[in-house]
Amino acid sequence: MRYYKYSEYLLSLYGEKVYKLPISIPVSCPNRLGNTGGCTYCGSEGAGFENISGVFSVREQIEKNMDYIGKKYKAKKFIAYFQNFTNTYLPLSEFKKFMNEAAKCDIVEISISTRPDCIRKEYLDVLDDIKKTYGIEITIELGLQSANYHSLIKTNRGHTLGEYIESAILIKSYGFKLCTHIILNLPWDDMTDVIESAKIVSALKNDFIKLHALYIEKNTVMEKQFLNNEFEICSVSEYKERVITFLRYVSPNIAFERIIGRAPKENTVFANWGMSWWKIHDEIVLEMEEKNFSQGDLFNYLGGKGVKKFFD
Ligand code: SF4
Repeated sequence: MRYYKYSEYLLSLYGEKVYKLPISIPVSCPNRLGNTGGCTYCGSEGAGFENISGVFSVREQIEKNMDYIGKKYKAKKFIAYFQNFTNTYLPLSEFKKFMNEAAKCDIVEISISTRPDCIRKEYLDVLDDIKKTYGIEITIELGLQSANYHSLIKTNRGHTLGEYIESAILIKSYGFKLCTHIILNLPWDDMTDVIESAKIVSALKNDFIKLHALYIEKNTVMEKQFLNNEFEICSVSEYKERVITFLRYVSPNIAFERIIGRAPKENTVFANWGMSWWKIHDEIVLEMEEKNFSQGDLFNYLGGKGVKKFFD
């Protein structure tokens, strides 16, 4: 394979396929709730999740999903995946209750998704206790989207690169696994930003990455900007080039959960260039094979290696 897949990582660690069970808890996002308006591409989809979460307990959600996925795929090992919104943006006592409820189920790992500005030591201490008590792995997923801090302002992310760096260092200091989400085709980014994003996630010793292509939902700030021609989205061939470049610069030790996301067709004005995600994925891999490129073949800049360029 031309890049290191997350499924390979799981297989080598657990000796069999491991499945993620999505769980919703009653959380939202501080960037949506405040008077900042949220990220410019953030749709209203999330509001529904906030309601679903109140219907079933964490245990019930895990057991229902486990039963369904277990039967469908003959699966035996599972990760409890707190996927929606900012799962560390709730009172500490509630966070502790939800995490302990998950840990008591028959799972091998807890994975939680959150924002870089919502990483606090007390919450990581709760996860550390759980890791030690139950002997399960902890992964924290952070949305960064781009190392271009100007793009973070333009998309109204509500945090900067500095906050991402600080939270990544803190998470790694606990020995937790770190996963970062990156959108490789934000309108104001170019190849320099792609390379810098790859370097930063490598320098911060990420374990996993999720790469996405931007899709534009209706009724968002970005939809208005897009329809007013305030920006252009790069072509699909440029996106593929960006993914390949990112993969070549990133550390070969980082496993990829995806190199392009599935994008909803409904309620969007732009999504994956009207193509299926797997076609774009396969074309990326094919191009890497044809050119004999691999993940990390340009990973030659950390640990003082960058100095070589002055002497070559
Ligand atoms: S961090 Fe996520 S949920 Fe919050 S405003 Fe941005 S896209 Fe929406």
